[in-house]
Amino acid sequence: MTNRDDQKLQVQQATDLVRLIGEQIALRPKGKEFLGLCPFHDDKSPSMHVSPAKQIFKCFSCGAGGDAFSFVMNYHKMSFPEALKLLADRAGIKLQEWRGQSDDRGEGPSERELLAIANARAMQFFRGCYNHSEHGREARAYVDRRGIHPDMIEAFQIGYAPDRWDGLVQMIGAKAWDMRSFVFAGLLKSREDGGHYDALRHRLIFPILDALGRPIAFGGRKLREEDEPKYLNSPETKLFNKSATLYGLHLAKKPIIDSRVAVIVEGYTDVIACHQAGVANVVATLGTALTPQHAAELRRYCDKVVLIFDADAAGQKAADRAVEVFLTGDIDVAIAVLPSPTGEKVDPAELLALEDGLEQWKAAIEAAQDALDYQFDRVRQELSSQTTLSGRQRVAEGYIQKLATLGIARTGILKSAMVRTRLADLLHLSESEVASLIQRFAPRRVTPQAQPPASQDEDRATMPDDNNVGADVALPVSKAKLNALRLAELELIGCLIRRNDLFHALLPDGHSLDEAITVSEMVTDDGRRLYQWMHDRLADGQTLSLASMLGNLAAEGEHALVQMATTADADLDAKGFDDAALPSHALAMAEALVKHSREMERLTQRMALLEQVRTAGGEEMDAARRIIEQARTGASPLRIARVSA
Ligand SMILES: [Zn+2]
Repeated sequence: MTNRDDQKLQVQQATDLVRLIGEQIALRPKGKEFLGLCPFHDDKSPSMHVSPAKQIFKCFSCGAGGDAFSFVMNYHKMSFPEALKLLADRAGIKLQEWRGQSDDRGEGPSERELLAIANARAMQFFRGCYNHSEHGREARAYVDRRGIHPDMIEAFQIGYAPDRWDGLVQMIGAKAWDMRSFVFAGLLKSREDGGHYDALRHRLIFPILDALGRPIAFGGRKLREEDEPKYLNSPETKLFNKSATLYGLHLAKKPIIDSRVAVIVEGYTDVIACHQAGVANVVATLGTALTPQHAAELRRYCDKVVLIFDADAAGQKAADRAVEVFLTGDIDVAIAVLPSPTGEKVDPAELLALEDGLEQWKAAIEAAQDALDYQFDRVRQELSSQTTLSGRQRVAEGYIQKLATLGIARTGILKSAMVRTRLADLLHLSESEVASLIQRFAPRRVTPQAQPPASQDEDRATMPDDNNVGADVALPVSKAKLNALRLAELELIGCLIRRNDLFHALLPDGHSLDEAITVSEMVTDDGRRLYQWMHDRLADGQTLSLASMLGNLAAEGEHALVQMATTADADLDAKGFDDAALPSHALAMAEALVKHSREMERLTQRMALLEQVRTAGGEEMDAARRIIEQARTGASPLRIARVSA
């Protein structure tokens, strides 16, 4: 066991989960457990169970669950190293050698820590300049003109970068701070002679704060007409990932959690205007459309995102991105169009400044249309402008093709069924016609050469998981069957967590479980990932316990897998399985998964052959028919391969 694992376990064992959670929510004892209102969803009756014996929590309503690390990470929105530090401090354990970042080696603070310190110092400096009676005068006058309230200046920590090349440089020199970390943070630029100069000069400074209110970057707005550009932002650093950051989140978090809705506007001043007007569930992206990473962040607080679009036709591209996030993310995305009372387009700040601005704002949010509907309206218009059947068909196919590129094949099974129904209605097709069109246009297994050029971030966020491409859409499995399979997957995993030795148990057909059950026998994405994770370790002879798994998965940021492992264990408890019943149950679940997997294999094979028949002619057609006949009578895939070769 490494020193890190050692410390993680030490901290985990030193923490009393009931006390830890009890400090945040009221818990009352019930049987062997404690019960409280779940803080991770809008809980009406206590659904959060905390087990002192197992040191895990589990919400039977929203599925949240895990150990002390997961609770702190999710409740306080912390990273694993932050959670470890917090819990270690509580328990009076001094952490050694743990630097928390893989890029760190040796002694001294990590690059992230250096960046955090530099940013915090710079923010203080900018705040000081803003409040300086003389230096800050012009910045304050600008803020006055924009009608930004002093409360907002405080809340958003607005500052001013002085009109000189060496303002920050002199400060750093006088305090003997480390110049390099300010260069890393993009606050200083290097000169050829080895000296430095301020990157932000004579600008109003909007610190970009993380969810806990710590500065991770800065945006500077010009105060002089001739300066360019209008906004100058910090470069991306180890602390600052532009496409995952939301401006104003530290203040909007609570209102977003309370209202279960996040509203996304365009810029710093829009966010501030909204908060000033008392609409606080508002954040802004930083010059990008909503990304899947934003959606994943917001999913922790709410289940719906409302994007504010201009009254004049909003960019088709922004709408496409919204649909993409809707299809591939686990969050609803709606589009609100602001009214234009004057006939001119207004931004949120202008609208909210009107006498009945707040009511108009609320009405616009209320009337927000889900992203798909928003796009459907355009398709409907396009369809009605087509006079011929083939024209309409072209539009329909074109739109489904577009949805395919936006990721419809990666949509979860329930959402994709809903989308299919709505598409069928829109396009006047049957659901099966829609399904087969989706299947036709769904991107096939993506090879590295075929990937479109894209930034690494986009890659990570949008590349389909190979295991999952089209699987949900292409193969017909009833909902009941799917639920049974999901349960089999969950309970098999639960059994393996409790009894690691079952991993090598023999199935009736003589195969051992670890051979018979590979990731492809698992039916959900999370199931595949969790099983792979366990398989790697069990095959390596390691021992897994629920506690060690939860700690390690939390450290890897695998919250979905933490939840799944907790649910798997809780499910066995809820059903009253005792240890003696586990082996036979595990084998039964494994068999069910294997059986389904074989059925799917045969079905896939047959579908491929049907396709071959459809496209083949003459002799090939006859050959293919023979093959199908053989397949139908149950020939093995191996034999089919031989016949068709
Ligand atoms: Zn819950």
